[in-house]
Amino acid sequence: MLYRKMPKNGDMLSILGFGCMRLPLKNGKIDEERAIRQIRHAIDKGVNYVDTAWPYHGGASESLLGKALKGGYRDRVKVATKLPSWVIKGREDMDRYLAAQLGKLDTDRIDYYLLHGLNGAVWDTLTGRGVIDFFHQAIEDGRIVNAGFSFHGLAEDFIRIVDAYPWEFCQIQYNFLDQKNQAGTAGLKYAAAKNLGVIVMEPLRGGNLGLATPPPAVKEIWNQAKTRRAPAEWALRWIWNYPEVTVVLSGMNEEAHIEENLSVADTAYANTLTREELEIVEQVSRKYHELMKVECTGCGYCMPCPSDVLIPGCFETYNKMHMFGETETAKFSYAIRMSGILADGKPKYASQCVECGECLDKCPQHIPIPEFLAKVATEMEGPELEKRLAMARKMFHEEQK
Ligand code: SF4
Ligand code: SF4
Repeated sequence: MLYRKMPKNGDMLSILGFGCMRLPLKNGKIDEERAIRQIRHAIDKGVNYVDTAWPYHGGASESLLGKALKGGYRDRVKVATKLPSWVIKGREDMDRYLAAQLGKLDTDRIDYYLLHGLNGAVWDTLTGRGVIDFFHQAIEDGRIVNAGFSFHGLAEDFIRIVDAYPWEFCQIQYNFLDQKNQAGTAGLKYAAAKNLGVIVMEPLRGGNLGLATPPPAVKEIWNQAKTRRAPAEWALRWIWNYPEVTVVLSGMNEEAHIEENLSVADTAYANTLTREELEIVEQVSRKYHELMKVECTGCGYCMPCPSDVLIPGCFETYNKMHMFGETETAKFSYAIRMSGILADGKPKYASQCVECGECLDKCPQHIPIPEFLAKVATEMEGPELEKRLAMARKMFHEEQK
């Protein structure tokens, strides 16, 4: 495992951090035994930065991490969690949530505490509600060691927030598709020039950049590279190639992916990709931008929808149809998934959207969700939907016999 230094406090952090937003599931809940085993294994292999947040897994992620860090693991890592900015109504809420988080994580301090999901407006609201005083108090009495923020807003607001407080670190969405989106490359460089450590989230864009079998047009480009690498390895190495990046968070839930990421993190030095390799990544980036219709990362922040639309699922199947060109397979998979016939029986179709707008402010990618759902409904549903469902029912009914 390679380590990089936090510029201000000198902490040597593993370049690979363990993100606890997409832990393995069993019967719709975190598979605790497996998740704990995975987290401890990563720590045994050198990971020393673990990241969670209040809302992950419906509030269960922090408690799970607290359990995983028992037995001596707590002191081997830096724990990061986040103040749920959107529920904070006043100064006292900040202390209340932090106290609850310390309890869930069963620890006396949060090493890296972030204001979750800032954009310009959220930052203005939090400062108006006393967040600077909160940091001052919590750092002084040791509940928080380092202050930071995670960001999903406009580039100009990122600069403004970086300049507004003596942050130790920030967390940005960054990957080869987001070079000019949100903080982007300019934001990464700006934060590093101001001596902030930079934690990167969404390195694989909700998994899309790491698909073992990428879309044929993308595969063709990867195949031109002299060095053969899995798509996830390309995506990670591209980020670590920036010396300004301190840690890359990966939401790992498959043992094989954990091993692959750990192995890449052993040798991913900064400034080591060649000009040809960087050009190949640029070509792939351009191709993905052409193919993906909705820039959804599958984060799920827009959920739940009062009309029960499974928003990330709708966009995932829609994007896959456009990326892989297997139209009928994608529509069939949409029909099965959104009908709920293999899950709780409740329909979750894009066409159920009543355009109430409740999801709009929650989306960190600023996707006009109802507008895209209308396109999903037009392209993925239509008169053939019932036929596909009848076929699916027959298929699964027969399988169960
Ligand atoms: S706008 Fe549509 S998708 Fe969004 S919350 Fe309302 S009904 Fe759900
Ligand atoms: S629509 Fe936005 S909030 Fe919802 S899953 Fe996609 S990126 Fe996340």
